Amino acid sequence: MTSKMRDWLDRNSGRTYGNYIDGEWISSSSGATSALYESAMPDRLLGQFACSDQADVDQAVAAAHHAFQTWRLAPPSEKAAILYKFADLLEHHREELAYILSAEQGKVLTESFAEVARAAAEARFAAGEAFRVEGVTLPSDNPLVRSEVVRYPLGVIAAIAPWNFPVVTPVRKLAPAIAYGCTAVLKPASATPWSAVRIIELLAEAGLPKGVVNLVTGSGSQVGDALTEHPLVQGISFTGSTELGLRINQIAAARLARTQLEMGGKNAALVLDYDNLPFAADQIVNAAFACTGQRCTAISRVIVLPSQAERLTELIRERMEALRMAPAWADGAQVGPVINERQFQTVNRYIEIGQQEGADLLCGGERIEVNDPYFAEERQGYFLKPALFANVTKEMRIAQEEIFGPVLSILVAEHTDEALAIANATDYGLAASVFTSSIRTAERMAAELDSGMVHINHGTASQAHVPFGGVKHSGFGAYSIGHTNQEFFTQVKAVYVGR
Ligand code: NAP
Repeated sequence: MTSKMRDWLDRNSGRTYGNYIDGEWISSSSGATSALYESAMPDRLLGQFACSDQADVDQAVAAAHHAFQTWRLAPPSEKAAILYKFADLLEHHREELAYILSAEQGKVLTESFAEVARAAAEARFAAGEAFRVEGVTLPSDNPLVRSEVVRYPLGVIAAIAPWNFPVVTPVRKLAPAIAYGCTAVLKPASATPWSAVRIIELLAEAGLPKGVVNLVTGSGSQVGDALTEHPLVQGISFTGSTELGLRINQIAAARLARTQLEMGGKNAALVLDYDNLPFAADQIVNAAFACTGQRCTAISRVIVLPSQAERLTELIRERMEALRMAPAWADGAQVGPVINERQFQTVNRYIEIGQQEGADLLCGGERIEVNDPYFAEERQGYFLKPALFANVTKEMRIAQEEIFGPVLSILVAEHTDEALAIANATDYGLAASVFTSSIRTAERMAAELDSGMVHINHGTASQAHVPFGGVKHSGFGAYSIGHTNQEFFTQVKAVYVGR
């Protein structure tokens, strides 16, 4: 039995990686490193990564600040050329990137390949944006003076990324920063630093001048705080939990730094008199359990009318029970492990809470041993069978709080108004799906759902050029992806030109 992924990991695991500051790979100022282990095989060492602190952040921000003085003036053709080359490199190295991603994060290889492809698409979109920075010329009260509003790059950006999409999220922040003439310091999640290292290597290979993008790995409490509090950081693009996003926003507000916050979700699929329930079930199961449910846009609540509740529940359950849980490298793997023990404990606690609250656990919720030859003598990661709860009410914690794992709840609403009210009755507002055969209902839901993104008759999949973001406690600041990034990465300036 051979596996290209396992062979590649055997040959490439175990190295030590430093920070990338001002175009150089260097160890952290303390010299300390932290070991990273594989998600599906928690005893297998993947590598050692720099544990950084304030001194490293100071150095990285100083490099970014210095580079900004020239990068802000670089022509768009230069920025775009680098980003196009970077996108090509991502695709050229997709196998190895997918192996790294799956090894540290646990997601199955098909998803990792899709994530790398998506990162390349977002980098290409950002490349084009370098040419599309818009200003306006306004009528002037003085015929001898022209009035303009122009956009300039914001400055040094702190890019703080979570562990669930360790390739696309850093690219989603760094590519527009580069395109709009900003410089950046990337802090990846402690659980997924290897993807970030590889991304930075490819940016350097694409010809990015030194100091434009810097990488500092290490813990949130050391590196994260030092970055968000740094007076030379003008903008913080953060993706992660709502709790942390709110805290970062307070720190930034105190020193008037700008934020772009992409946070948690409690996304609903509303099924409202839909004539193709098998299709709805396919879309819901896919959107709920891709990335083992560890997606900000994962569907975690299904809200359905009584007439279709029983049939839909059965269709969803059948599909869930057929999901093949396996490590990334296995043929036909559909759902990988929950990333690590900490996340497993969190999800498990919610499964217990759901049962204590009186919801019915229809299937799943237990840890399983996966039969795979590579596990013969290895400790396995946290393969948790996707859980389905029925008889869930909107007040229950499993219907209110983000679980961030493979747990789906079904809630029954008496009528469309109640379905809408239930969907809106959480602190979150990221993504929602509506399955309906009525154009009137579709239009009404698009207008009245408190959600940053609404998907009619499909799951919560987004696209590489369409603005992405949330409302309420799911998002704050300019939407990421797409043209709205300009609002975050650039600063307007009024210019009066006399003659
Ligand atoms: P998290 O715990 O909030 O961490 C996010 C990032 O912030 C990590 O790099 C983390 O570093 C860092 N961090 C920790 N403490 C910090 C501090 N004091 N100051 C600055 N940064 C700090 O989130 P996660 O567990 O990685 O990711 C899951 C969450 O992300 C979920 O809530 C999910 O919904 C959300 N998410 C949202 C979106 C979206 O677009 N809306 C997309 C993906 C994920 P360490 O890893 O070192 O702790």
